[in-house]
Amino acid sequence: MNPIQMVDLKSQYLRIKPEVDAAIQHVLDSTAFIQGAPVCEFEQQLAQYAGSKYVVSCGNGTDALLVALMALGIGPGDEVITVPFTFVASVEAIALLGAKPVFVDVCEDTFTMDASLLEDAITPKTKAIIPVHLYGQCADMEPILDLAKKRNIKVIEDACQAIGTPYTFSDGTTKQAGTMGDIGCLSFFPSKNLGCYGDGGAIMTDDETLAERLRAICRHGSQVKYHHDYVGVNSRLDTLQAAVLQVKLRHLDDYITKRKAAAHYYYEALKEVAWLQLPDIKTNTQHTFHQFTVKVKDGKRDVLKQYLTDKGIPTMIYYPISVHLQPAYRSLGCQEGDFPISERLCKEVLSLPMHTELTEDQLQYICETIVNCPL
Ligand SMILES: *Cc1c(COP(=O)(O)O)cnc(C)c1O
Repeated sequence: MNPIQMVDLKSQYLRIKPEVDAAIQHVLDSTAFIQGAPVCEFEQQLAQYAGSKYVVSCGNGTDALLVALMALGIGPGDEVITVPFTFVASVEAIALLGAKPVFVDVCEDTFTMDASLLEDAITPKTKAIIPVHLYGQCADMEPILDLAKKRNIKVIEDACQAIGTPYTFSDGTTKQAGTMGDIGCLSFFPSKNLGCYGDGGAIMTDDETLAERLRAICRHGSQVKYHHDYVGVNSRLDTLQAAVLQVKLRHLDDYITKRKAAAHYYYEALKEVAWLQLPDIKTNTQHTFHQFTVKVKDGKRDVLKQYLTDKGIPTMIYYPISVHLQPAYRSLGCQEGDFPISERLCKEVLSLPMHTELTEDQLQYICETIVNCPL
């Protein structure tokens, strides 16, 4: 059995090496390193895949969030609601623009925004809501979108962990993560479900005017070279990364199938472990398992983590500290106890190895080790 890794990018690359190497060589031969043909082609292919009218590629997922907020004109004096149980970037983008991040807690079964808490967090200053589709499962978008529409608030989806995850509305329509709100943000960080070989990101919208503004902001606020309509940033997807992503997008459905198969193995093999709570999947969303994150009860998470480390099984804690308690965000004035579910999850969650290359013997070893752990 090969050593178990949290993510195995090497084996994944080796499977598609001829395709990727040819795509990269093609870019090298063209020397069109910025805005070469693969960038625009990839944007169109992704738009088609996701079912979004417009895709604007950018430098990374954090920039996608930042540029989305900029395109909506959000700045000092505005409030943006998001969750504290997330990767810091969801909150950072808000703070960088001088707007105030306002938190609502997450649901303890899905790890995503508790829509029932949203209304109380809305004030006349609320300009946008950023639900985060954490670990690959969609937040409960229908009540969030309904409330946002009623109160004239924009919705930016942080879909960085959930590309390709379908969500079904009560009228039967199904949409993918990142295409339900006004704007959706994606990351192509190497370990994401669609990862490139460096940094990359994309912004999706169905609104043509917004798409033009998003694109301009990513290019120094410019639509015509050396004419600047907005204060923008320099955030582009490299041609080399776009070429890699074009290849990998063709395999994304297969990658998602492989993640689901690994998750299925975990569900079956670990369902009897009393002190372990396996991830809950709601009936209106699928799960593409960016992470397979269990909850370890009775304060035993850290003991289990060490035990597994000693047995050669890597695990990760996403995330050990809720953003509202991070030193960088102390000025928001949050206290311990303000978001009790997020705080408890930080003490209970443990993400098991999850990637497209897990073998049956690896999964068997991981599960047997957990089942036999003397906790
Ligand atoms: C990865 C991630 C981001 C940021 O993406 P980068 O490409 O690393 O900037 C934002 N939000 C969430 C939830 C993420 O997982």
